[in-house]
Amino acid sequence: MTQRDPRYDILFEPVQIGPVTTKNRFYQVPHCNGMGHGKPQSLAAMRGVKAEGGWGVVCTEEIEISPFSEIAPHFEGRLWDDADIPAVRLMTDACHAHGALAGAELFFNGYATPNRYSREIPMAPSHTPVRATDPIQARSMDKADIANVRRWHRAAALRARDAGFDIVYVYAGHDLGLPMHFISRRTNRRTDEYGGSLENRVRFLRELIEDTKDAVGDRCAMAVRLAVDQLLGPLGITSENEGRDAIAMLAELPDLWDVNIADWSNDSQTARFSQEGYQEQYIAHVKSLTTKPVVGVGRYTSPDAMVSAIKRGVMDLIGAARPSIADPFLPRKIEEGRFDDIRECIGCNICVTGDNLCVPIRCTQNPTMGEEWRKGWHPERIAPAQSKDTVLVVGAGPTGLELARALGQRGYEVALADAGTRVGGRLINDAALPGLATWMRVADHRMLQIQKMTNVNLYLDSRLSASEVLEFGFNRVFIATGARWRKDGLGRQHRMAIDGIANADVAPKVFSPDDVFAGAALPSPVLIYDDDHYYMAGALAERLGKQGLEVHLVTPSVKVSEFTDMTMEQQRIQAGLLKMGVQIRTTTSIAGVSAAPEGGLHVQLANTYTDDRTPLHCASLLLVTMRDPVDELFTALQARQGEWQGAGIKAVQCVGDAFAPGTVAAAVYAGHRAARELDAGELPMDTVPFRREMVGIVGLDFRSYSVPK
Ligand code: ADP
Ligand code: SF4
Repeated sequence: MTQRDPRYDILFEPVQIGPVTTKNRFYQVPHCNGMGHGKPQSLAAMRGVKAEGGWGVVCTEEIEISPFSEIAPHFEGRLWDDADIPAVRLMTDACHAHGALAGAELFFNGYATPNRYSREIPMAPSHTPVRATDPIQARSMDKADIANVRRWHRAAALRARDAGFDIVYVYAGHDLGLPMHFISRRTNRRTDEYGGSLENRVRFLRELIEDTKDAVGDRCAMAVRLAVDQLLGPLGITSENEGRDAIAMLAELPDLWDVNIADWSNDSQTARFSQEGYQEQYIAHVKSLTTKPVVGVGRYTSPDAMVSAIKRGVMDLIGAARPSIADPFLPRKIEEGRFDDIRECIGCNICVTGDNLCVPIRCTQNPTMGEEWRKGWHPERIAPAQSKDTVLVVGAGPTGLELARALGQRGYEVALADAGTRVGGRLINDAALPGLATWMRVADHRMLQIQKMTNVNLYLDSRLSASEVLEFGFNRVFIATGARWRKDGLGRQHRMAIDGIANADVAPKVFSPDDVFAGAALPSPVLIYDDDHYYMAGALAERLGKQGLEVHLVTPSVKVSEFTDMTMEQQRIQAGLLKMGVQIRTTTSIAGVSAAPEGGLHVQLANTYTDDRTPLHCASLLLVTMRDPVDELFTALQARQGEWQGAGIKAVQCVGDAFAPGTVAAAVYAGHRAARELDAGELPMDTVPFRREMVGIVGLDFRSYSVPK
């Protein structure tokens, strides 16, 4: 182990938080994960790995305290009654096994949840529709309701203590927690002692803090998570006025202030829209208002930025959700001086999609995230090689890089070949899009690891043919040659090519993202047709708009880059394009295209509901619809299977985008999985490929939990 660099000693100082002490300043703030009460063993294993990785504090996601505020179908934690304690206890045990404190974020979400499962009427300070589009309104709470919520919160705090938590939260963050709904004038129209002045609006939060302290304060630290700015200007709480005043009023009451900005899409901004430390401007004043420790977030991955935030008095504890997801061992790596080994979060929010889609969390950088229990994957450990087989990996995009790295870690002799002059594959293009430079970290991290391995050799500028692969005679061959964009419009909306697209006078004016990346100059105006719905079309519109082109973005969807709703970027993307002057047409497809007599293209647009047609003239058409695997090498090798044995080849496998195009996260996962499964024995296709949690079917088997190897 390398000696710790004294510059970072400050990060490893213990900090007292009320009656408990964290061993260092690394604080995993609460974060959702799509597992919650539905997959408690998976959850405990994931949190346990973070504790093992050195986080001094490891918190839960939101924990429902009552069926009167539940957030189905999303999977959050649950402490409705004592029956929930054993499942939650799995996590505290896993944290304590590695010397971390465990924090429970209790929540009551007021009008922010429609109670789809319990069918109880949501409650709010004042009558208001719920946040989702469900045709449900939350009712205004009377005094008995307020007393009930306080009682439920107190009971849940006691259950949290009994489940082994060291820190218990009152949650008023993100525009989600009921106390926040009381504080904010936007959602509190009350005329009693809980409405009107800020002092009155803060009363409910004050009461919850006092209740919780009274209930568990002797043994547990009492934390408040408060959004000090809603980024709504004078319409909401801002860090210059009511956010600041609320903290000042309650300054010494909690044992810890966990401060951030609301709503969640502002709190967890992607790298496309914010830099490391982006919340400092809002939270920097908090420490001047209280003597209690302050935790803040801002996607900190650099130890220097962390030290600086502490030394400048911005915060006492470095809060992290995403950096701890991308690298659960971030603290240990800093402590051991292994800075090159840090897997830095790229700020893409693929992790958020798991929670939003009600499935276990996944991460672009960390393919083991969410797989700790069900597949037994550990972010730092992997089984040693089971044979002396030599391996050729063709393609050094995210799939090939992760595959070669993980195989190298296992001890295999690996050759990694790529046709290009630098590694990264699709990442080279993605990272050149506006705001996506951090995506290159996926390649950079893996290259840093590979360069340290004597058993992995990289060959650039090496476009391989089937004959060459056969000549080399590696025992195992993986084809990770990526994908290319189609140029005929085929995709979700058009299951057949767009009418007229292949005509000789049309085709030269039709482009794909690959053409743009290859340097094609698109004549203006350009029509971008997005039937892909993720980042590509929106980012290209931004890029071309910035180059001065007149851009029209047409999509069959109801909004631009619709999938980015899941990464919480959609609002910012569409707003940005509108502000740039990009002409946006939604619920529109392309019925046909022809060469215009005056030059350029005549595009027949069709309304996706009515099929009403509208003509649009453009000089070029950029189709962002679907990708085809680049699998010619794989197909050629398959055709020559008879020659494999003579060449010493045992198997050829197509992986990542070359197998089925998807996200970068899917490519990294595919590469990692292929590396784990090499020599691991055949898994029959009719076997469930992971351990399942049978919660609610046959009950929990608590004994089966073990820290992954
Ligand atoms: P993935 O996302 O699955 O990693 P990418 O498209 O990012 O796929 O990367 C594929 C890589 O494969 C590219 O860097 C490309 O240069 C490389 N490649 C494609 N065909 C060949 C080939 N025949 N020989 C070597 N490298 C290839
Ligand atoms: Fe960071 Fe992306 Fe991983 Fe989330 S999915 S932790 S944003 S790298």
